[in-house]
Amino acid sequence: MSALAHFVEVILPIPLKGTFTYRVPRDMENVVQTGMRVVVQFGRRKLYTGLVLQKHDRPPTAYQAKYIVDVLDEEPVVTPSQISFWQWMHTYYMCHLGDVMNAAIPSGLKLSSETRLAIHPDYTGETEDLDAEEMDVVESLQHKPFLTMEDIAKVVRKTHVLHVVQSLVKKEVVAQYEELQHKFKPKIEIIYRLAPWLEDKEKMAEVFDALNRATKQLEALMQFIQSSKTGKEKGVVRRTVLIKDNGISAAAIDQLVKKEILIKEEREITRLVDTDAWATENITLTEHQQTTFDELKKQLSDKKVALLHGVTSSGKTEVYIRLIQEQLAASKQVLYVLPEIALTAQIIQRLQKHFGEDVGIYHSKLSDNERVEVWNKQLGEEPYKVILGARSALFLPFKELGMVIMDEEHEHTFKQHDPAPRYHARDAAAYLCKQAEAQLLLGSATPSLEAYYNGMRQKIGLVQLTERYGGIQLPHIEICDLKLERKAQTMKGPFSSQLLQRIGETLARNQQVIIFQNRRGYSSFIQCNSCGWVPDCINCDISLTYHKYSQDVRCHYCGHADKVPHVCPNCQSTYLKTKGFGTEQIEEELSVHFSEAVVARMDMDTTRGKHAYTRIISDFEDQRINMLVGTQMVTKGLDFDHVGLVGILNADQLLNYPDFRAYERAYQLMAQVSGRAGRKGRRGLVVVQTSEPQHFIIEQVVRNNYHGMYLSELDQRKLFRYPPFIKMIRITLKHRDRDKVDAAADALAQALEPIPDKMLLGPEYPLVQRIRNKYNKHILLKMGGPNIGQRKEQIFDIIQKINAEKEFRSVYFQPDVDPM
Ligand code: ADP
Ligand code: ZN
Ligand code: ZN
Repeated sequence: MSALAHFVEVILPIPLKGTFTYRVPRDMENVVQTGMRVVVQFGRRKLYTGLVLQKHDRPPTAYQAKYIVDVLDEEPVVTPSQISFWQWMHTYYMCHLGDVMNAAIPSGLKLSSETRLAIHPDYTGETEDLDAEEMDVVESLQHKPFLTMEDIAKVVRKTHVLHVVQSLVKKEVVAQYEELQHKFKPKIEIIYRLAPWLEDKEKMAEVFDALNRATKQLEALMQFIQSSKTGKEKGVVRRTVLIKDNGISAAAIDQLVKKEILIKEEREITRLVDTDAWATENITLTEHQQTTFDELKKQLSDKKVALLHGVTSSGKTEVYIRLIQEQLAASKQVLYVLPEIALTAQIIQRLQKHFGEDVGIYHSKLSDNERVEVWNKQLGEEPYKVILGARSALFLPFKELGMVIMDEEHEHTFKQHDPAPRYHARDAAAYLCKQAEAQLLLGSATPSLEAYYNGMRQKIGLVQLTERYGGIQLPHIEICDLKLERKAQTMKGPFSSQLLQRIGETLARNQQVIIFQNRRGYSSFIQCNSCGWVPDCINCDISLTYHKYSQDVRCHYCGHADKVPHVCPNCQSTYLKTKGFGTEQIEEELSVHFSEAVVARMDMDTTRGKHAYTRIISDFEDQRINMLVGTQMVTKGLDFDHVGLVGILNADQLLNYPDFRAYERAYQLMAQVSGRAGRKGRRGLVVVQTSEPQHFIIEQVVRNNYHGMYLSELDQRKLFRYPPFIKMIRITLKHRDRDKVDAAADALAQALEPIPDKMLLGPEYPLVQRIRNKYNKHILLKMGGPNIGQRKEQIFDIIQKINAEKEFRSVYFQPDVDPM
């Protein structure tokens, strides 16, 4: 580094434009490096952890640079390629570097003045390692649940305390208070070892003699000895192996412990991996899969990006596994991204069978400590070779990234909506791969139109896998005409007689049923039967959804909840009716229709707890549940063996959604949920309830004709100028005051006028105008032609200029590039 480098550019975790220049004190000059965290003062009193983007020798012109307060790291925690990834994201998605940093780094690496600290639950009270200041902090934390940075500053009588805190966090004496609030308890397992005195063969023989008449204990001991030899961990046997797997009596084991023959220990099961599932397994690809695999490899090496379009259950995952094996053999790392954290549970087991300890998991539901743990491991000498994660895993450091696999590529959850950066994981992965010279593999049974289009015009590779594994046929799809059933008055609530009959038949065969309804809650709303009054949210322009279980009406936009009304406030009528069926009511009614069946529900309301989702899935897998009612959560790549029937309650709802992607999405949802039917053995059945049986999309679903859907949708997109033919940017403006939002939107629209080659739509109110007490207004830009990047820069500048005007400073301006 140049001897002149007395300044650093620092990214701060705040949504402000640009980076900030700080002066480097003499004694830190040789220490500080790009990618290290530094403590700096911003504003009057606030201290932040920022990240060094660059060292240089240019003093800022507009302000007097402050000195950095401290350097937190001995080694960089962010690599140069991560920083350029952030910069790309900042430019592409029109957001601030600080926003990207916030999304990228686990909060454990981001202490700030707002951080609150508490004693770490595992801290034993050991004081040997602590210096005087640290002791003081620990001392005062004994009397208070938490301390803020400011409190700590008072305790140690210093202004700059991040270093002290950092050290205490590192020693696991304190931890972030917020973090501890939802830290989950370590999972404990019980294991047994043989007592050391029994290594003596004679003693052992004596024990066997002594146990001669205690048959149960003898059996337990013999099983222990056998398992301790055959298990993966020699000499150790888990309690569950003895009791659950081998039917040994718990009392007998306890007796052996009491007699000091076995030693009982408790240990924490590592949170990151479940060693249970390990056992190397080798899969032989079918001929068709092998051809696909070879073709994919060729296309990937030619085009760097390829799409695997494979029907549900065709063995895409097996093909991925083979590709991962090849990457690892070439000493490369693989990132496997899934749209839903919940899906990782099923896939992780399959991956661990092949890659054991080489697989790490990373997503936002891990505790912050766990995320920091993975992050640091990836920076270290022995990083995980395979990372399985949600979109946030793209932000991890990789040393030798060889491939990114993005399964269920079409899923909308790959796009982050809020807060900024509003990035799409697919596009971010494409950048990441280009940068690392890695390959990107997209996979789906129902690809996104964008990816398929690129495949069709050979911009990326495209490989088809059209057969299900094991010769299983795709399900037969029956269309139920709701108009006819209504006319014949054979509907029972939301169910047609046809669907009820099919459910009955399926249950009678001991097969399982999935019912898909894309609406949670009990009913869509409650309505007064006399005057038509509907309870609305006080914060949003939307009616409240009735939730019977929690006995309230709730807003699905802001979470606001009210008591269930029993009298209409308008006309005092007590005749209030529920309208529209949500998953809760469907679950309830199915239990009435099929009283002997166990019905469960999977939606956002039943899967809030950390393990709730996994529990429902495993109960369903193990057939403790006969019928599962769910929202689109049930459509997502889950692999069940005994589902005979899938019912789609209301296809009209999907088709009539006001969005240019509605048909594509409806097709994807219906095809995906159908794919859950009939995996092993028998051919599955799907019943689709609709009042438009002749609808083009329904027909394509029946014929499993993705290509047909694609062609017709592509025509529409071209005709009406939508992606992939043009690029869209949606700017949302928000403010409490409606006039203000109107004025700001008009000003922005006018300022955007000079941007060349664009279509500007709006400003207009979205369907729901007011959300969380803020009025929303949209401006939609459609742009074609080259140099979009340049125009985007101009647009972002204009937005910020308008936002900086005095009267619009309080308005939120949220650009969303490639909105979904
Ligand atoms: P997809 O990812 O396309 O939905 P999967 O990879 O999950 O398909 O395969 C569906 C089922 O078939 C899984 O249970 C999988 O283990 C099994 N399977 C697929 N290919 C093979 C193979 N070549 N050998 C053995 N089992 C296979
Ligand atoms: Zn009324
Ligand atoms: Zn609301």
